[in-house]
Amino acid sequence: MAVIRIRTEIPGPKSRALMRRRAAAVPRGLAHSVPVCAASADGACVTDVDGNVYLDFAGGIGVMNVGHSSPTVVAAVREQAERFSHVCFSVLPYESYVSLAERLCALAPGGFPKKALFVNSGAEAIENAVKIARHATGRPGVLCFEDGFHGRTLLALSLTSKVAPYKLGFAPFVSDVLRVPYGYCYRCAYQASYPSCDFACVDEIEQHFKRHADPKTIAAVVVEPVLGEGGFVVPPRGYVSRLASFCRRHGILVIADEVQTGFGRTGRLFACEHDGVEPDLLVTAKSLAAGLPLAAVIGRAELMDSPIEGGLGGTYAGNPIACAAAHAVLDLFESGDLLRRSEEVGARIEAHAQRWAKSCRLIGDIRRRGAMVGIELVTNRDTREPAKHETEEIVRLACERGVILIAAGTLGNVVRFLAPLTIEDAELDEGLEVLSECFVAVTSQVAAR
Ligand code: PLP
Repeated sequence: MAVIRIRTEIPGPKSRALMRRRAAAVPRGLAHSVPVCAASADGACVTDVDGNVYLDFAGGIGVMNVGHSSPTVVAAVREQAERFSHVCFSVLPYESYVSLAERLCALAPGGFPKKALFVNSGAEAIENAVKIARHATGRPGVLCFEDGFHGRTLLALSLTSKVAPYKLGFAPFVSDVLRVPYGYCYRCAYQASYPSCDFACVDEIEQHFKRHADPKTIAAVVVEPVLGEGGFVVPPRGYVSRLASFCRRHGILVIADEVQTGFGRTGRLFACEHDGVEPDLLVTAKSLAAGLPLAAVIGRAELMDSPIEGGLGGTYAGNPIACAAAHAVLDLFESGDLLRRSEEVGARIEAHAQRWAKSCRLIGDIRRRGAMVGIELVTNRDTREPAKHETEEIVRLACERGVILIAAGTLGNVVRFLAPLTIEDAELDEGLEVLSECFVAVTSQVAAR
């Protein structure tokens, strides 16, 4: 039975009314991808305030891997809220924080002693990982990547590589940041091609050191194993391990930013596992606590212990309700088949996308690791001119027809898939059928121009 139910024009009257209040009360800097407002959500479905039901292919930007309103998560949250909601771990420690740290240290890659720190958001976790790396190495510099995204706080934003809208007007940013091209093969900065390039983009970092920074001043590299906001860019297998070896030769710590790739999205709990990389520090957030604000820095015990007592913390960091939600998420991963499902969901999306690409000339590149699937749209397959407007049009049409979709990419021309991993095949196929119609509609609009 079909899940999508659109019974008003989109946006419906209640969404429009709420959007008018939103415009008056909430700053415009806080954008929204779709023009409808949520009333409830369950599994892979979202219902708006007008009663329209959508398939959610955005998952609150990759947060709902275990599905909306998972009964396991809801029960854990309710039970914890009834016992206590806050005491501040820096005042009165509690068991659920400690046991969550124990569980994550056991699960994160690396056969060395680890410790874990909890904070409230991906950006805050990145800030903390860099603070720890700087403290442990005594070096100020950070190596990061073009097209990378690490959050909106000052240091995380300084590491982020998209000006509008993220950085526009927010300067000055922090110093000691060295940015180099990522392993983005479809738009290779060195006009090379894999595998004959033999990861020249990694070796080229040496040239950047000669011109811009002594590697002995660089504390850490911050790297997404697959670029998220930057366009679901999947580097060739072996790229992250080559980078890690390169950095280790220079005494540079490896910080894996697994905020978007983490928690099963790529078919492994953490994406760096695909490359056999054991990062010194690993940052995770988003699907870790199924929508409750929680992020973690997990790392080598001796690095994590470098800052002095009181050097790390935060009032709400590792909130007990969020820790309870994360325990429930881990239970779901341990007892279910979400990692296998991640691969199946991704393969199913990719198979549909490959079919669309036969007739839709807008599709320039299809990239996938597990269920992290991106389709890069171009107006011309030879020149690879980004099709930003067409991407926006597909997102708009999809919403009108009952699929919540979001775009990505520095050039704004990538359709990305972040549906809950619990989505059923029939739901996935229903949503993909809608998207197929959207691709056809936008392709014929382009042809008619
Ligand atoms: N790092 C990556 C790879 C992300 O995708 C994001 C958010 O999208 C962040 C960091 C920032 O996380 P948050 O929005 O929780 O601060």
